[in-house]
Amino acid sequence: MTLQPNPQAGAAVKAADRAHVFHSWSAQDLIDPLAVAGAEGSYFWDYDGRRYLDFASGLVFTNIGYQHPRVVAAIQEQAARMTTFAPAFAVAARSEAARLIAERTPGDLDRIFFTNGGADAVEHAVRMARLHTGRPKVLSAYRSYHGGTQQAVNITGDPRRWPSDGGTAGVVRFWTPYLYRTRFYARTEEEECARALEHLETTIAFEGPGTVAAVILETVPGTAGIMTPPPGYLAGVRAICDAHGIVLILDEVMAGFGRTGEWFAAGLYDVVPDLMTFAKGVNSGYVPLGGVAISDRIAATFAERPYPGGLTYSGHPLACAAAVATINVMEDEGVVRNAARLGSEVLGPALHALAERHPSVGEVRGVGMFWALELVRDRATREPLVPYNAAGPDNTPMAAFAATAKSHGLWPFVNMNRTHVVPPCTITEAELKEGLAVLDTALSVADGYTV
Ligand code: PLP
Repeated sequence: MTLQPNPQAGAAVKAADRAHVFHSWSAQDLIDPLAVAGAEGSYFWDYDGRRYLDFASGLVFTNIGYQHPRVVAAIQEQAARMTTFAPAFAVAARSEAARLIAERTPGDLDRIFFTNGGADAVEHAVRMARLHTGRPKVLSAYRSYHGGTQQAVNITGDPRRWPSDGGTAGVVRFWTPYLYRTRFYARTEEEECARALEHLETTIAFEGPGTVAAVILETVPGTAGIMTPPPGYLAGVRAICDAHGIVLILDEVMAGFGRTGEWFAAGLYDVVPDLMTFAKGVNSGYVPLGGVAISDRIAATFAERPYPGGLTYSGHPLACAAAVATINVMEDEGVVRNAARLGSEVLGPALHALAERHPSVGEVRGVGMFWALELVRDRATREPLVPYNAAGPDNTPMAAFAATAKSHGLWPFVNMNRTHVVPPCTITEAELKEGLAVLDTALSVADGYTV
């Protein structure tokens, strides 16, 4: 790891970025991207020699941390052997990646359609469901994110949809369980679960069950706030879908590949969807890759009838070689077990202890290396620390929280009034404790904005 400062090089990187790079989700003149010089394991550093512990795993994708030597070597070897090849051929890295993924997905999700990332995985899962059922509508959660392409962003239940909302394009949204801010006047998890299922059932009845192709849910909603579903909810959704011939799509783009301390979050809840989307952790984002894991029933629809969809880079050999190496590393190094153990023994208890001391923490929820702290102005009323979708001066408390964390060497994940603690699944106990100490300091700043 080289931390040699080189501010001049950093300034050149920054200048070219500001002149020519058009960044995602941003007002271009109002952003100030950090110039990153390098990264290794759970850390990255800038050109001034400042190092950050990455509690965000990039955008929640570096499940094995940065620059894992075995994955870097596998990419180099694949580049030397066969850098690219068209998708219609059988290619060793692609075949092996599909086999390793299918062995780990639940139930009969044994066919893998590869995409370049999460949003196009969602696009294709929805297309498969519509073609399989011959029905037009998709039901999705208000609190969700499914990707930035046109259909995926229309399915999305957060404000990133609004500027591209094409009259919702065959999508109907519904409320999912979230006891802390219940839509169902529930007082217990059991009430929340039962009422959320009744709400879904009624929504389907009034939409017309024969018009609904799919229900799509993040198994554990990610960016929307890591609301781990109450026991029985996903099984209940599965039963409702079965009763009406509706395809259940679980989106595991963020929750999959070890994040929750299981290979897939579906394993935590013992539910098998008809289609499951993945990306991010499949190869920790070392080379772009996503996909749809397909059940036998849906694969059969396209056994004799062509599937009308594809991508030039479907199952790109470099990306697949990275996936093969990543999955083998995760298996050999017990990465999924590490996430589960540190989540239940260290991170979970430590976050609950922070909540005891900091009045700005309204709720702590999560599992594995997938946790959210919901920050509030007032614990009694649960008023969020900043309003929904706050920007500019309205967002000052969260901006101050994040700035404090960064100034102490911790890169936090911040969304609206929440900070998510989503470090690499390879993180060590000592690194976690280092980050938790900074979180303690940053939460004291958030406390200053409580009533
Ligand atoms: N689905 C979920 C649950 C996600 O969290 C994301 C990205 O954060 C996506 C889909 C979109 O993935 P991508 O950004 O790779 O297109």
